[in-house]
Amino acid sequence: MSTGASSRSRLATKRRTSGRDRPSGHLQDVVDIALSRVLKQSSLSWGAGVTGAFVAEAMSRRYPDVVVVDRRSPGAGSTSAFTALLQWEIDIPLVDLREEISTRNASRTWKRSFRATQDLVRLVERENIRCQLERRNSPYLVGNTAGHIKLVEEARVRKVAGLPCEYIDGTDLKARFGVARTGAIVGTRSAVTNPVALTRGLLRRAQANGARIFPLT
Ligand SMILES: Cc1cc2nc3c(=O)[nH]c(=O)nc-3n(C[C@H](O)[C@H](O)[C@H](O)COP(=O)(O)OP(=O)(O)OC[C@H]3O[C@@H](n4cnc5c(N)ncnc54)[C@H](O)[C@@H]3O)c2cc1C
Repeated sequence: MSTGASSRSRLATKRRTSGRDRPSGHLQDVVDIALSRVLKQSSLSWGAGVTGAFVAEAMSRRYPDVVVVDRRSPGAGSTSAFTALLQWEIDIPLVDLREEISTRNASRTWKRSFRATQDLVRLVERENIRCQLERRNSPYLVGNTAGHIKLVEEARVRKVAGLPCEYIDGTDLKARFGVARTGAIVGTRSAVTNPVALTRGLLRRAQANGARIFPLT
């Protein structure tokens, strides 16, 4: 994602060297010239995947002439492969991250991830974006990478950091989720969504604020 004049020269270079989905030859040159005129004085969001859509929606609330370009259709990149989970739990357990970057920084990192997820859900609800968004709990199971003792400790340090979770034992896990393991951390306030519908909904909001979208360019 980038903005401003420096993006325009990169756009021209990249467009000539990559992509099978776009026009070629003379038509390509015409498109390049037209697009470079559009991009003058514009704020550019590069890519119409879920990231570009969030950026475009946010920029369109602050800047008058936002332009989104993508060589594919909106949401047709890795966004279309997304398995729909909007989890605030990040990949590295908090107990491990504390060892790497200190307790304070690890807690801040995890809390930021939590806040970002909640902000995302609030934005979708406020803007009434229809993307099958639903709140869900997310169980993190005892398994090969983390045993019972480590997960009990992980749940404890998450709670100390103010993150909403609880450790449940195997009986509770079976009753609530139908999964046979010795235990799990259950985090609350995660969500699921349809990522392509979310992307298109955000782009529609950006368009309503005056942004212009150029797919297949
Ligand atoms: C199998 C799988 C499952 C996943 N599951 C989840 C999940 O459950 N939860 C989760 O949070 N994340 C998940 N992810 C990760 C998630 O899909 C990505 O983080 C997310 O889609 C990235 O979105 P993006 O907008 O950054 O990228 P993309 O959706 O790939 O968008 C980038 C866009 O930029 C365009 N583009 C790139 N280069 C150029 C160029 N030079 N000129 C013009 N256009 C260009 C592309 O065409 C594309 O449309 C999963 C990923 C995979 C592969």
